[in-house]
Amino acid sequence: MAGRADSTVLAGARVVLPTGTVENGRVIVEGTRIAGSTTEDARTVDLSGHWVVPGFVDIHNHGGGGASFATGTAEDVLTGVRAHREHGTTTVVASTVTGEMDFLARQAGLLSELVEQGELAGIHFEGPFISPCRKGAHSEELLRDPDPAEVRKLLDAARGSARMVTLATELPCGIESVRLLAEHGVIAAVGHTDATYEQTVEAIDAGATVATHLYNAMPAIGHRAPGPIAALLEDERVTVELINDGTHLHPAALELAYHHAGAGRVALITDAMDAAGAGDGFYELGPLAVEVRGGVARLVEGGSIAGSTLTLDTAFRRAVTIDRIPVEDVVRSISANPARLLGLDDRVGSLDPGKDADLVVLDADFVLKGVMRQGEWIVKPAAV
Ligand SMILES: [Zn+2]
Repeated sequence: MAGRADSTVLAGARVVLPTGTVENGRVIVEGTRIAGSTTEDARTVDLSGHWVVPGFVDIHNHGGGGASFATGTAEDVLTGVRAHREHGTTTVVASTVTGEMDFLARQAGLLSELVEQGELAGIHFEGPFISPCRKGAHSEELLRDPDPAEVRKLLDAARGSARMVTLATELPCGIESVRLLAEHGVIAAVGHTDATYEQTVEAIDAGATVATHLYNAMPAIGHRAPGPIAALLEDERVTVELINDGTHLHPAALELAYHHAGAGRVALITDAMDAAGAGDGFYELGPLAVEVRGGVARLVEGGSIAGSTLTLDTAFRRAVTIDRIPVEDVVRSISANPARLLGLDDRVGSLDPGKDADLVVLDADFVLKGVMRQGEWIVKPAAV
C-alpha cells in the first residue's frame, strides 16, 4: 500500500518556520504529526495566498466561550478550551483567580485531570499571593502572603500540573517562595506587584522568569523609581507577557517591550475571561461580578479591568497590522517562546517535522481561516 489515507500536504502558502518564512512552502501532515517528506498519494490542499503559522500557545488564560477555567466544571473547562482552539490556540494553560485555598486546591485537582487527558497544558495560579495594592480583579479579603507552605499546598493539589504561579515577590516570604517554585520546575512569575526596581531584581536573581502581563497591575516606570517594569524588561532571564487587545496596552508600550526585550523574550497572552469568544453581557471572574461592554471586561464594583475578551488570533493580527511587528517575531512570541517556557518545545511551538501538527491558516490580511490540532481540522479552510 503506497502512502496513507491521512497524509495531507498543505501547499502554496507562506510558511513561517524557525529559520524564516518560506514562500510557496509546503507543510506535510502525517496522522497527528508534521512530517519531513511525503508519500505519493497524499492529498494536497491549495493554500496559496495564505500564511501557515504554528498553533498558538497561551500561558495565561482564565476561560472563554462563556465558561470559566477558574470556577467551572470539567465540562465548562472543555467549552472554554474549544472556544480558544477555534481562534488558533492549540495549547492552553488554565489560569485560576484568587479564591479560598480549599477551593483553589479542589479546582487544581479538576484541572490536573484535564492536563493528564491532554486537553490543557498545565495550571497557572494567579493569586492569592498578590499585593492588595495591585489586586486588579482579585478579591482583597482572600489575598495572602506567599507562605512557602501554602504555595506548596497548591503545587501538591495540582499533582505535577502546576506550570506557573504569579506572585508579588516583595511580600513577606516572597523570595523564599520564588526559590521553592524554581526548585520544583514551576515558573515564578512576578505580577500584581508593588515591588521596587531593586526588589524585582532580587526576585529575578532568586529564580523568577516571567512578568505577568507586563505594565498591568504593577507600578509605572518613573525616572527616579524605575520599578518592576524596567527590571523585568532589561533582564535576559525574563520573558514578559503582553495582552495585545488595545485596551490593556497602548501600541507604543507594546512596541517598547518588543524592542527592549527582543521578540525572543515576549509571550503574547490573552488573560481571557469567560466572555472571550462569547460576547458582551454579565459574567463572573471568580467571586466577582464583571460586565463586558464593547468587548471590554470591567468589575461591576470599582470598574477595574477584569481580564480580557481577547483571543490569540486577534492578538496576532493586531501585532502585525497595528504594531508593525514582523510576522516571524509575532510567531516567536505567540508560539515558540511560550512552548519553550512550558518545556513543551519538543512537541509544539514550531512547524518542524516530528512535532504535533498544530497550525493556523491566516489569509493575506491575517484573518484566521483554518486551525489544525494534532492533524485534525478544528476550523477547516475553504480549500479543504
Ligand atoms: Zn489573569
